[in-house]
This record gives sequence, structure tokens and C-alpha cells, in this order.
Amino acid sequence: MQNIESLFGPSQAIEYPKEILLEGLFNTHTHLRGGIKKGDGRSETFIPYAAAVYEDMLSIGNTIPPLVTTALVAEQKPFWQSLVPKGMASTVHVAALATEKTDVEDIITGLDKPLGDPSAILAVKMFLRAVSNSGGFDVDNLDAVIPLIRAMSDRKKFKHRRTLPVLKIHAERKYTLLGRRISFIDRERAAVERDIERILMLVPEANIEICHVSLASTLEAIDYYQLRGYNVFGEISPHYGHYTTDDLFEDGKGGTAMNSHPFCLPIFKTPADSAAIRSAMTSGKPYFHFGDDEACHDNNPTLESGVKINSAGLTAGGQTQIPEAVISSVLEDFIEARRPLSFAQAFLSDNARQLYALPVGRRTVRFVRKDWVVPNTIEREFPNGKIVRCRVAMGGQTRKYCLAS
Ligand SMILES: [Zn+2]
Repeated sequence: MQNIESLFGPSQAIEYPKEILLEGLFNTHTHLRGGIKKGDGRSETFIPYAAAVYEDMLSIGNTIPPLVTTALVAEQKPFWQSLVPKGMASTVHVAALATEKTDVEDIITGLDKPLGDPSAILAVKMFLRAVSNSGGFDVDNLDAVIPLIRAMSDRKKFKHRRTLPVLKIHAERKYTLLGRRISFIDRERAAVERDIERILMLVPEANIEICHVSLASTLEAIDYYQLRGYNVFGEISPHYGHYTTDDLFEDGKGGTAMNSHPFCLPIFKTPADSAAIRSAMTSGKPYFHFGDDEACHDNNPTLESGVKINSAGLTAGGQTQIPEAVISSVLEDFIEARRPLSFAQAFLSDNARQLYALPVGRRTVRFVRKDWVVPNTIEREFPNGKIVRCRVAMGGQTRKYCLAS
């Protein structure tokens, strides 16, 4: 029986292991940017950071032009892969975008290619209309993509794949059916109730991932779908387990100002939502996995596009991350929640590897206990004198684990 005094006494000190080994880290949601062979500097700047940590990463095809065909994927993927530094075992995969005009057979062909093929598509990403930065390559009329979802859910369509491909959904609705604008706070709930459930009614075997869950009610919905036998999975971006709407209005010195660098879409919600996401992340439930939705945003407000805040003052959603810091923060969350590190391994790799039918990870990364301060920027200077500098959302924070060289 528990001693009543222990309930009110000082909480037990947390013990942080000196060393943590993780195998086959897999980030299911990164935006490597750059556009086909254009090399605007963001891919070149960011990929070495990601490759240092992840054995596999899935890059979303909302580039310019958007990756909506196998031919476009075959042009883009080798370019990204070529930026992985020599000697680092890190593979870039691609999620093609679904649109109302998707050529279903073409995408199915890409989804059935062996992973090493340049035109292989690992998954399909669907943005609902105008909720984020999809360059207009998104979906308003859900009925128009049902043939694609049906084909993706038909095992007979695939000769090589072991499992059905994943449909990644940015589940937010900006407008009601009659064109009324939905409040920022309610957009994810609207999409879950209207779109996720309609897909499940029409294609019950669909393999769906709700990207970057931002609401406790979405976690409840996923628990419900899983209990009912549907294949609905939750991607958890750890910053949704830490930030709330109010954090967007902190100047870092105790004053109030709009801080655009943590700003992400979906928008952060309440402290209760954030706590629910952190607890789902550390729960050990196999249907939640890691994908941090990072993007390299150039910190150059004189440019019109491709930057965090542009010359017109418009701010793009998305956090620039240093993967080493993100993994440290996830490890700290598991340790502080007193959950076993085997749960962290499953969350950061195994659960998503199973869902995406990737082979078991072979690369071990070693994190060691050492306080370090996350730099405010990552940057790279190019031979022509151009400097790409991205402001890191976690910049200035002290993290407890660093990557051992
Ligand atoms: Zn994203």
C-alpha cells in the first residue's frame, strides 16, 4: 500500500540514462523543399542534419512543381538522395500528392515499385482544400479521390507490396459544404467528422494516417476507429504535445508579441489538447507514431516566397527543427513520463516501419546525456555567396541528449 505521505512529498528525482541507443529512426513527415533539381538551397542546408539522425525519412511532395506523378517523383527523389552526405545510411522516400485529377493507375504503379526504384512512391499525402501550403494541389471534393482510395485499398492491385499503402491526410476543413468558413480551432474536428468518417463508410479497409494530430478529440476518434477494427493511425508531431495557442503570443521575455517561428498548421490548441497528445505519444499504443512535420524555412523577409515571413508580411506554417534536438525532446518526454525506453523506440521507429512496410531498421544512433543549447539558426553558405539561414523553432532551449559522433 502506498504511504499517504509519499503522495504529498517532493516528487522523486528523475533519472536520465547516460546513454540511449535507438535503431532505425524513421521520420514520416518532413518537407525537404527545393523543387525539382532547382536547389534553392533549403534541401542542401537541411538534408545533412536529417540524415545524421534518420535512417529513413518521408518527404512530402508539396514542392514546386508538386509531386503528383511518378515521373515527377523520379526526377525529385534522386536529387534529394544525392544530398545525403557520403557514409550516412539514410534513405529519402517520397509521398506524392493526391489531387482531384490524380491519374490513379500511375500512382498505383509508383506505389508498387520496389523501394530502391527512383519512381517508387512510399505513400500518398492529401491536403484538404486551402488548409495549408499545398500550392493549390489539394482536394475539395472528396468523391473525386474515392477511386484513388479504393485502388490503394485493393490488395489485388499490388504485386510487390506487403501491406496497403498509407494515405496521409492533413485533416482540416476550412469551409463547410456551403462555403461558410470554419474557425481555425474547429477545422480538424470538422475534417475528422466529415471526411475521415466518409472515407471509412465508402472504403472501410482504407489505410489512413491522420497527420500531426492537434486535438484530444482526434485521439479519441482514433482510439474508437481502432477498437472498431478500422486502419486509422495517428501521426504525432512532438511540438503539438508542448505548444498551445498562447505560446504563439510570447515574446520570450515575459511580454506579449506574435512569435511566428513556432507557428504551424494545424494551429496549436489548448493545454488539455497538448497534454493529451503528449500522453498518447508516451502511451505505448502501436497506432501512434512519430513524424515531426519539419520544414526548412529561409529566414529572409525580403523574399516573396520560400521563406518563413515574406516581403508582404505573410507567415508560412511549419517549424524548422534540428532533428537531434527533436529526438532529445522526445526522449526527455518518455523519461519524464516514466515510460520505458522501449516505448520510445517503438514510437520513433518500429510502429511506423510496420505501418509503412519498411524493413526493420539496421542503423543504430547513440544519444548521450549532456546539456546543450539548441542554436537559433542553421545556415549554409553557397559558392555564389548566397546564404540560406533558417530560424530553428527550438532555438535557445536546453536539451538533455546529444548525438554521439
Ligand atoms: Zn507537413
